[in-house]
Amino acid sequence: MGNVVLNLSMSEINKMKSYYEGKLLEKTPPGSVFAAKTSGSMITAYKSGKVLFQGNGSEAEASRWGEAAAKAPAKSKVPKGNLPEGIGKMSVIGSDEVGTGDFFGPITVVAAYVRKEDIPLLKELGVRDSKDLNDDKIIAIAKVIKDIVPFSLMTLKNEKYNQLQKAGMSQGKMKAILHNQAILNVLEKISPVKPEAILIDQFVQGSTYFQHVKNQKAVAKENVYFSTKAEGIHLAVAAASILARYAFVQYIDKLSDSAGFKIPKGAGAPVDEAAAKLILKKGREVLPQFVKLHFANTDKALNLVNKKFKG
Ligand code: MN
Repeated sequence: MGNVVLNLSMSEINKMKSYYEGKLLEKTPPGSVFAAKTSGSMITAYKSGKVLFQGNGSEAEASRWGEAAAKAPAKSKVPKGNLPEGIGKMSVIGSDEVGTGDFFGPITVVAAYVRKEDIPLLKELGVRDSKDLNDDKIIAIAKVIKDIVPFSLMTLKNEKYNQLQKAGMSQGKMKAILHNQAILNVLEKISPVKPEAILIDQFVQGSTYFQHVKNQKAVAKENVYFSTKAEGIHLAVAAASILARYAFVQYIDKLSDSAGFKIPKGAGAPVDEAAAKLILKKGREVLPQFVKLHFANTDKALNLVNKKFKG
């Protein structure tokens, strides 16, 4: 049995944490972000970005998230698990979300339908894995494809997010509900045409996803597939990701306007500073309209504010 160590970003680690929701351990080692136990592997993620996989299934589990630096071949391969043969060339609804690891701003989820005959055009327009694109490029591409690709955008604003979170809803469940709704909206838009497959960029296991949406009025179930790194499997997910990112960036711009200064993305030190500035400027009570309150950044920002008053 081999141990595998991956080096991942904090936003990937946050993604993992919600993916393993339900399998998280209460006791976690010092310096860790979370620990989880699956049937084949024990997973521990550290604040340093190191993620340790132990146990018989460690290699399979780790391969969902990346490749170990030591034995990584040149190209990272895309997991193809239980997907239909040739899905990359089918007419597909893809869905993806943005903002889950960002302290400021909403969660945006987009489902987008890409017909197989439009794949070459979208490639030509530069649609690909949004992680390879900067925000300027993403905005430029989004402005063009929004009129070509039928899509639905769901925006979970901060105020509502905080209410749901406080009421005990996990981020995983919020995302599942948003994905389901966006997909249903697109199915309705393109009806009577039906996609050959629906591909969700995987953030929880399929069984957990369907558990999360089981009380929704309607659930898209037929031909639904999940895969991590789905942006690389079908352009519909890449297009969804670009449109979700575009909506998120626009929303951050709106927040910046109402704050009166530039709001940073992510969950690092700059957001602590910005939140502290916002509190000093507008008062603590505006925070729920801007941030995801349960993030550790809230306390860090309040500490910064206190320091400023003492100092
Ligand atoms: Mn995703």
